[in-house]
Amino acid sequence: MTHDTDIVIVGGGLNGATLALALASVGFTITLVDAKPRDVRGAQGFDGRSYAMAHSSCAMMAALGLWAGLAETAQPILDIKVSDGRAGEGASPFVLEFDHAELEEGPMGHMVEDRHLRPHLLAQMDKTPAITQMSGRSVLAQSIEGQSAHVTLDDGTVIAAQLLIGCDGLGSGTAKRAGIRHTGWDYGQTGMVAAIAHEKPHNGIAHQLFMPEGPLAILPLVGNRCSIVWTERTGNAARINALSDAEYLDILRPRFGDFLGDIALAGARYSYPLSLSLANSMVAPRLALCGDAAHRLHPIAGQGLNAGLKDIATLAQVLAEARRRGEDIGRLDVLERYAQWRRFDVATLALATDTFNRLFSNDNPLLRLARDVGLGVVNAMPGLRRGFMREAAGLNGDRPELLQGRAL
Ligand SMILES: Cc1cc2nc3c(=O)[nH]c(=O)nc-3n(C[C@H](O)[C@H](O)[C@H](O)COP(=O)(O)OP(=O)(O)OC[C@H]3O[C@@H](n4cnc5c(N)ncnc54)[C@H](O)[C@@H]3O)c2cc1C
Repeated sequence: MTHDTDIVIVGGGLNGATLALALASVGFTITLVDAKPRDVRGAQGFDGRSYAMAHSSCAMMAALGLWAGLAETAQPILDIKVSDGRAGEGASPFVLEFDHAELEEGPMGHMVEDRHLRPHLLAQMDKTPAITQMSGRSVLAQSIEGQSAHVTLDDGTVIAAQLLIGCDGLGSGTAKRAGIRHTGWDYGQTGMVAAIAHEKPHNGIAHQLFMPEGPLAILPLVGNRCSIVWTERTGNAARINALSDAEYLDILRPRFGDFLGDIALAGARYSYPLSLSLANSMVAPRLALCGDAAHRLHPIAGQGLNAGLKDIATLAQVLAEARRRGEDIGRLDVLERYAQWRRFDVATLALATDTFNRLFSNDNPLLRLARDVGLGVVNAMPGLRRGFMREAAGLNGDRPELLQGRAL
């Protein structure tokens, strides 16, 4: 049976692009299709997010030869401070602190800006002959015929591959067309994202302030800048989004506090609706799902992209080993190894982010007391605190080779 390509990937966001590079590094040929035109996908400012990339995610980027091009613009996260707060009142005295000095591996992670990461991945794909990119083309249909997965694009092109991987994000059409349903809910919250310039240095410290309406994350970027992820109930967010920049800052200031001196906007403002969505299965015959197509999480712990990179490291290793053994990479029992490896981690992460958000996004005085005491207790227990840090850095569990910084 001849195929046009070994693997067709639908969706060339951060996960699709990284997956294509990981699979090409072990000798697969890839065709990657994305609905957005190339100039839109590669534009700086296309997405305002910055990502807290865990230690293991950065190690994976290094193993794929991608870290050198990012390191200069990436800010190490040296310390994380978690506290409860109310606008205008400052943080509660119970501060939970994670200091990277307690980890022998180094910083817990790095902040990487989308405007650097996305163009870098696209440029690396351009330099990789095993990857064929088709931008500005949508996948409209897919079918499994014998030992092939076929996808049909909006211009009528049909691509035949051994395996189809859906990296097409929230509401994945690849999953829907395969009959894979998602379970989840809308949080009724919106994440407002912006880069903020400030007077005083942040010293690599990330802050997570739990406000009654939702968490406010203040994440250090290179220079005297930080990225905020400001979660508000969707109605409030709509009102805040309609304000001028000066009015927006007036509302932000009492929440942000004055510990970094005066603040100003250092770029455009962005807004993302927040939801939980979990695929009932990550695989089907000749099909696998990765990244947000498989699991969309609340950004409260900054773990969404990290979870997608874990999918990629796992799937790339399973497929590389299957090929070495002469197995058909599209067979369901091969793909089940990937799903089984990822199942527990995805479920616990979804449960943890959902629970944290419910516990912290409210002003119930009893819950407030309980969580403040809880933060204090975790802070007073070095073993427990270190366990949380290793989890956030992606250093726990049965990690595939790429996440340990080893090439496949
Ligand atoms: C406010 C916020 C802050 C966050 N912060 C962090 C953080 O600090 N750390 C972290 O690890 N994660 C974070 N995340 C999560 C992270 O941003 C996502 O998990 C990640 O960007 C998902 O990437 P993806 O490639 O899976 O999906 P997407 O970015 O959604 O990409 C999907 C791609 O598929 C394409 N596509 C869709 N349908 C078709 C079709 N039919 N044909 C062809 N192409 C198609 C689309 O054009 C798109 O390019 C955050 C999320 C939010 C909302």
